[in-house]
Formats: sequence, C-alpha cells, structure tokens
Amino acid sequence: MTSRPVRTRIAPSPTGMMHIGTARTALFNWLYARHTGGQFLVRIEDTDRERSTEANVGVIFEGLDWLGMTSDEPPVFQFARADRHREAVAELVELGQAYRDYMTAEELEAERELARAEGRVVRSPWRDADPATWPDRPYAVRLKSPLDGETIVADAVKGDVTFQNAGLDDLILLRSDGNPTYNLAVVVDDHDMAITHVIRGDDHLNNAARQTIIYKALNWEVPVWAHLPLIHGPDGAKLSKRHGAQAVSEFDAMGYLPESLRNYLAKLGWGHGDDEIFSDAQAMDWFDIKDVVSAPARLDWAKLNHLNNHYIRQADPARLAALVVKILASRGVTLRQGDETLIARTIPFVRDGAKTTLELADAVAFVLKTRPLELAEKTRTQLAEDEMRGRFTRLRAALANVSDWAVPALEEALRNFAEAEGVGLGKFGPQLRGVLSGGAPAPDLAGAMTALGRDESLGRIDDALSLPA
Ligand code: GLU
Repeated sequence: MTSRPVRTRIAPSPTGMMHIGTARTALFNWLYARHTGGQFLVRIEDTDRERSTEANVGVIFEGLDWLGMTSDEPPVFQFARADRHREAVAELVELGQAYRDYMTAEELEAERELARAEGRVVRSPWRDADPATWPDRPYAVRLKSPLDGETIVADAVKGDVTFQNAGLDDLILLRSDGNPTYNLAVVVDDHDMAITHVIRGDDHLNNAARQTIIYKALNWEVPVWAHLPLIHGPDGAKLSKRHGAQAVSEFDAMGYLPESLRNYLAKLGWGHGDDEIFSDAQAMDWFDIKDVVSAPARLDWAKLNHLNNHYIRQADPARLAALVVKILASRGVTLRQGDETLIARTIPFVRDGAKTTLELADAVAFVLKTRPLELAEKTRTQLAEDEMRGRFTRLRAALANVSDWAVPALEEALRNFAEAEGVGLGKFGPQLRGVLSGGAPAPDLAGAMTALGRDESLGRIDDALSLPA
C-alpha cells in the first residue's frame, strides 16, 4: 500500500464512442479520489493516430462533462509525450534493464516458430549482447524481463494474481520506427502523473504484470492495482449491441439523467449494503475499492428506469424544462416564447410516471397545444348534447369564480360543482379532461388546469362551448 496522496485517473483511448464501461471506470476512480480527498485526473491515450481524431477526443470530454466528472488538472495527452517515453527507454537501457534488439523481421519470424515448437516464449539473441557490439542499423528496444520466478499483481479487487515470468517475453518498449509501445507509455505517464491507484477494466490485468516489471526496472513505486469486472448484458453475456445502448451519449439521448447513471453505475460492481438510491455525497463517503466485487456486473434496465424516475421526481423543474425543450426541438416542435416556463410549471404535475425525460416531453405535450384544440370525436359528440352543454356552461362559471388558481382551490371547486349538480365527477370529468387536453395524456384535472393557467383553461372550455351544437 502506498503512503502517497491518492491520485487516480481515467485513461480512455479516443476511438469513437465513450463506452458505458469507461464511464463506470471513470466513476470508480472519481469516487475513490473524492473518498480519500485525492485527485481525479484524465489522460487521453491518443497514440493510435488513425482512430484518434479531435472529434473522438471531444466525445470523451463531452461524456465526462455530462457525467459531472471532470479532471482536477489539465488533461494529459499521451502522444505529445513520446519524447519523454523515449527518454525513459534510454534510461532503461542505461540501467541495463533494456537492450537493443537487432533481429530482422525474418529472424524474428523464425524464432517465433521455433519458440512455438519448443513451447516457450520468444527470446532474442541480443538480450545479453555487449553494447560494444551493437551494429549500426535499425533496432527495437526490448525490456530485459526476468527469465524465471514470478510476478505478482497485488490486485485490490482480485487479490494476488501470479504470473510466471518464464511465460513473459521481453516486451518491446520502442519499435524500430522509434515509436514507444503502449505498456511503456502507460507506465511512464502514470509515474509522471504520480498516479497511486490504477483502477481500470480487468481486460488490462495481463498488462499489469508487464507494467509491474517495467516499474521495478525503473525503480519506481508500483501503484495499487484494481481491476474491475466487466459489465455484462441482462442475460449474463458480454455487453454488445443487441443489449441496447453502450455509449454514454445514447443514455443521454434516451432521456436518462447523469445522476441516475452515476447512481446506477456505482451499483455495477460495488454497493453499500442493500442501498439502491444514494447521493453522490453518500457514494463518496462510502466508496472503497476493497468493496468492489470481482464477479461481472449485469446491466438491468428496470433498475435504471426506477432510478431515473426517482431523480426526475427530485430534479429542479427548470432544469428538466430545458432538457424537454431540447428534446422537443429535436422532434421538430417549434416552441413559442414562454413555453419553457409553461413546461417548467407543468412538470411537477406530470413527472411522477415518467421514467425518462423523453416520456416527460410526451407528458407535457397537452399544455403546448394551441387554441382552438382539435377535440376527440367522442368529446365533441358528448358536448353537443343539451344536458352536457348546460353543465359545461355552469362549470365554466363555477371555475371562473375560483380566485386562487391552484390545485387545492380547483379541487374544491370541482367537488362543490359535482355536489351542486347532484352528480359524480365521472359525469363531466372525462369530458373536461378531453376539452383541456385535446385527447393528449394529461394529469388529473386540477393539476392540468393549474399547469395551463386560468386564461388558457377557461379559453379551452370556451372554445369547446362555441362548437356548433
Ligand atoms: N487506454 C486504455 C483503454 O482505453 C486504458 C488503459 C489504462 O487504464 O491503463 O482501455
């Protein structure tokens, strides 16, 4: 264990989308840094020059921003540090921990075949060559990996994982074109960034053995390793397209709030007893790597929907209104001035049933309709009857008398009206709802009228009353 102040990092490769697994890795690093009062950093591993575009880098920053997890220091870009990586390789050569390998492609191929036949890893004849005999031609630089014994990756999630050194070849550190290799770059960057805890997906466990050997060769302190179990689909199979969304941006587009996703992802591989719903502050307080489980975690849409509904019910209506406006704009709906305020006012009445902000956008549609509303056939027929028309005329008058246009007074007015008419609410409620909403989904009557406001509610009733009998 280390005594240095905790510094964690997320080190995504900008290869197109930000995978949900990367988001979970970021979250655990972020929570652990916050839990320990340490720092959370971001490094962009952009050494694959073909796939690393500016747009792909943007996707990562947008994803992290959206998730609310930003770097405590300016992000580090790996490719820009290639000179530093070469410097570390030179140091390893200097220390006698690495050597120049002059094997040609053909020689390497022949050695590969021989090694396969003999059931061992590739070994270069240049490993023990005297540097004085190094020729003047292209070479790769290889790590002088220990030939026997064991390398133990002391993993905070998986426990001690033992690798037989005889099974590890001398890793190439620098290719013959002068480019540093992945494992070398990761070690140098993590060291220079003073990373104390490397928390990442368990597809990197084998790299941890290689990287441990590089740390030791450089006499650098090995970080604490923590390799997280993969995220699987609901059926237990490795997460893939057929399980639905995989990219962080897709969860956003499907109407999930970032706090829902944080809460949800925290539960994928970690947990605090049976707690299902917890705040960021609680997660930061409780999170510890030692409580991460090593079994794969399963995606569970019902749980995510449940959490999202919870956070939608908690969120500031103005914030949700802004999200709904964006959704409506993407659907090509043109909004009028004041509609955002109207949406914010409506949200408290419709959000209880909403699992996503997309559903919230559907639920506010009734309030955005413009007068005169197109009424359902059934409502129109019923309103054409004398008895109903008379009742609606009186109802209009009763509602116009309500001085405090809000749920309690409106509920009371509706109750009193039903009593005065000597009928149940069922005798005019459905029709009133039809008149107010034009057949769109709407909350209960008092809520719908409060959201619409006095003038709009009475106006919609007036429009219905002025239809030809
Ligand atoms: N760049 C690696 C990836 O995106 C992560 C490497 C690491 O965390 O050490 O999978």
